[in-house]
Amino acid sequence: MIGGGFGGLQVVRGLRRAAGVEVTLVDRQNFHLFQPLAYQVATGGLSSAEIASPLRRVLRHQANARVVLAEATGFDLGSREVTLDKLPNGAASMTIPYDVLVVAGGSAYSYFGHDDWAEFAPELKSLQGALALRSRILSAFEAAELEADPGRRAAWLTFVVVGAGPTGVEMAGQIAELAHDTLRHDYRAVDTSHARVLLVEAADRVLGTFPPSLSRRAARSLEKIGVTLALDTTVVDLADGTIDVQPRNGERSTIAARTVVWAAGVTASPLAALLADAAGGEVDRVGRILVEPDLTLPGRPEVFALGDMAAVRSAGGEVQRLPGVAPVAMQEGRHVARSIGSGTSKPFRYRDKGNLATIGRSHAVADVKGVQLWGFAAWVTWLAVHLAYLIGFENRLLVLTRWTFSYLTRGRTARVIHH
Ligand SMILES: Cc1cc2nc3c(=O)[nH]c(=O)nc-3n(C[C@H](O)[C@H](O)[C@H](O)COP(=O)(O)OP(=O)(O)OC[C@H]3O[C@@H](n4cnc5c(N)ncnc54)[C@H](O)[C@@H]3O)c2cc1C
Repeated sequence: MIGGGFGGLQVVRGLRRAAGVEVTLVDRQNFHLFQPLAYQVATGGLSSAEIASPLRRVLRHQANARVVLAEATGFDLGSREVTLDKLPNGAASMTIPYDVLVVAGGSAYSYFGHDDWAEFAPELKSLQGALALRSRILSAFEAAELEADPGRRAAWLTFVVVGAGPTGVEMAGQIAELAHDTLRHDYRAVDTSHARVLLVEAADRVLGTFPPSLSRRAARSLEKIGVTLALDTTVVDLADGTIDVQPRNGERSTIAARTVVWAAGVTASPLAALLADAAGGEVDRVGRILVEPDLTLPGRPEVFALGDMAAVRSAGGEVQRLPGVAPVAMQEGRHVARSIGSGTSKPFRYRDKGNLATIGRSHAVADVKGVQLWGFAAWVTWLAVHLAYLIGFENRLLVLTRWTFSYLTRGRTARVIHH
């Protein structure tokens, strides 16, 4: 099993009682990251350990599973071997054999061909990314406190989030709450409530995968907590301290902003292309490997790919439109475990349980099987679902305690700046 994320972990756990099966889980990180809460680490609401569960601990009672900390860098499907690099003992590389191979390497944000923008607009995909962003955001307030020039101070207090999907909406909402609420009394020279939070989105509404009525409610909630929406607007350039945007029917303009967060566009893990190359398979426009309805590679019934890096064909041959979310990866993981355990092959069917996004304290939207919720009811649903899916009792307890504390005091204590 390559990758211990949402999909991979379900495969390994699903095989815990499978007779005669031994599982090797390879991951380049020693933890499973609960990405849906990464934005709370980036904005000081949670500490990194609360959303990162050590894989060895998660699997400590599963005798048929072992964990290897390494990066998969090559597949030889003919001799059934995977090449591993970045080994913790410093060895150059090694290969491990398999009978059945499952790959779930996830995805990364895409800068639409402008990889150089990553330096100026970090993303939130990894734990390191979330911690780097937290340092940038908190450092911007520190810089504003010392800056005497009003123009430069305004640039330090301008935060731009690019992309108004769930992650962008959550980030913009949290930065606004941080600036306008949490930090208000912590600085002397600067009034953080003057901070400007801009959410830039190329489409004409926020949360494009939700019903339009919930997008409108989310937009209103965002504006209420002080987020300025720039819809129908694309980013055309990014440099150190500035971002150039172009509204669909307007003039291009340059915004002075020291902190830009990237939450737009997704591209599959490079493992998808590597695997497609090895198998003579195909990848789609966003780099996902095309897999059969049972999640195997064409002509390779012993190789599975799933989660964010895979695009699943239906029985008719066309690609299914499955969202890049944790429930898809988890259901696919359980499906693969059942196929391996039983030695049978059935087509995968996604059961959509709904869509949730939070905007800020007491504000969220939810679309659960056609039932639309918003405001406090949606927010409580969001809290309950995220707590339920978080891995480990200890983390659930810690996160619940922190959320209760933050709700009551409006405080955020995980505000360490790493240099
Ligand atoms: C900021 C953010 C917020 C999100 N919020 C939500 C949300 O609220 N709700 C929701 O449903 N979904 C959300 N998602 C999407 C969700 O996290 C993904 O759909 C899900 O993680 C996909 O699972 P996966 O198993 O395919 O990949 P991942 O969970 O990303 O796991 C991939 C694993 O593979 C490992 N890996 C990658 N390459 C290699 C390699 N070469 N060698 C070894 N190991 C490797 C990685 O270390 C990682 O552990 C969010 C995503 C992000 C980034």
